Amino acid sequence: MTLAQAVVAGAEPDELARLEVPSTYNAAHLRKDEVGMFDDINDKDDKDVRRSMHVGQVPMPELAPDEVLVAVMASAINYNTVWSAMFEPIPTFAFLERFGRTDPRHDLPTHVLGSDASGVVVRVGAAVRHWRIGDRVVTSPAYIDGEDPIVQHDGMLAADLRAWGFETNFGGLAEFAVVKATQLLPKPRHLSWEEAACNLLCASTAYRMLVGERGARMKQGDVVLLWGAAGGLGGYGVQLVRNGGGIPVGIVGSPEKAELLGRMGCAHVIDRSQFDDLSDEKGWRRLGAEVRRLVGEDPAIVFEHTGRETFGASVYVARRGGSVVTCGSSSGYAHTYDNRHLWMKLKRVIGSHGANYQECHEVNRLISLGMVHPTLSAVYPLTGAAEATRAVQVNQHVGKVGVLALAPEPDLGIEDHALRERVGEDRLRLFRS
Ligand code: NAP
Repeated sequence: MTLAQAVVAGAEPDELARLEVPSTYNAAHLRKDEVGMFDDINDKDDKDVRRSMHVGQVPMPELAPDEVLVAVMASAINYNTVWSAMFEPIPTFAFLERFGRTDPRHDLPTHVLGSDASGVVVRVGAAVRHWRIGDRVVTSPAYIDGEDPIVQHDGMLAADLRAWGFETNFGGLAEFAVVKATQLLPKPRHLSWEEAACNLLCASTAYRMLVGERGARMKQGDVVLLWGAAGGLGGYGVQLVRNGGGIPVGIVGSPEKAELLGRMGCAHVIDRSQFDDLSDEKGWRRLGAEVRRLVGEDPAIVFEHTGRETFGASVYVARRGGSVVTCGSSSGYAHTYDNRHLWMKLKRVIGSHGANYQECHEVNRLISLGMVHPTLSAVYPLTGAAEATRAVQVNQHVGKVGVLALAPEPDLGIEDHALRERVGEDRLRLFRS
């Protein structure tokens, strides 16, 4: 029996420890010799990630003393995998080359992608104290050097902070993944492998943006305007706003997504197709008027990640003294906005990135308690990882798109059936219906 087969069969830790770690494993990856394949293509959607992503054997690395080898049961697509597979804004092999100067293992002709995973610990490095072979885990995407003193203050301020599976190799879209032990969290026991795997990157990023000390610090009753409210980040953003007593106003791009938001309990929804031009103040005013019509006031917080096409509107519609909290720029990163609206009305723009380990633990606790739910909408096999990424690239998806790695079928891995029943299948499967 192979190590992977033993994990799938639910073997005891002793047996997992006895079985040999394979020298290669199956993984969704990019190839360095294909960087440049999209150089002549301008339209983002035409840089078809199905051409650049491959699934096949890659070499198994040695484990460092502070690392853990996880047998991955399931993973999920994040937008960073879309960026990587388009080689935009720069090829991620540049990150691997730079990282390779201090850790040569990462600088390879293949880049294994993926920044989320659920699975089983199959090896621990000599310095790992809190995790053991056989533990069922999910992963935080933040790859942080614990020796940097600033991490005692906030891990996301670490000088060499990296996004695992984006700025490092050996990511989660694979049968095995290498993570720092500090990246591990206990898997929520009422969730299947794929439900558990889809949350952490987006849920923790949204948590830091809205709740974290360095985010927008939402208060009860705050009106929060969320772009992409049925997307990866937005699906968790809406839940966190509702849990914290805020009033979400979700913006989406289709009537179907508007209907889904309604079923999530987001009472105020704007279909952005009504606002085809948000490039100047005329469009911004119309959007602001619509928010006032719906909730009677301007948003205290605007949840931004959509970038160039929306940022001017976001700055404009935030209320006097309000905040625009941003973690991304899907539509372009060179933003323009009218600064008079920012300074004269004492607004703030807050940059946010990922989440530190404490914030990851806090949001994983909410998920484990059944207070925040997975937004999984579809599940692909590992062989279909490129197809899954393409769905996210062309915005055909809602919520999160999952990928089964070693899990042979969906709905496996649930341990706490009583909690699952209390939470309810309707909530847990809301995005799949
Ligand atoms: P996603 O699942 O693709 O969702 C984004 C949503 O934004 C889509 O559902 C779409 O919804 C909306 N959207 C797309 N283009 C838009 C446009 N031009 N104008 C208005 N709305 C638009 O992606 P995600 O996982 O939420 O990630 C979103 C962005 O945040 C990405 O750029 C990603 O790289 C970044 N991000 C950053 C971090 C970080 O730590 N810094 C973490 C996670 C994500 P509708 O069509 O329904 O409006």
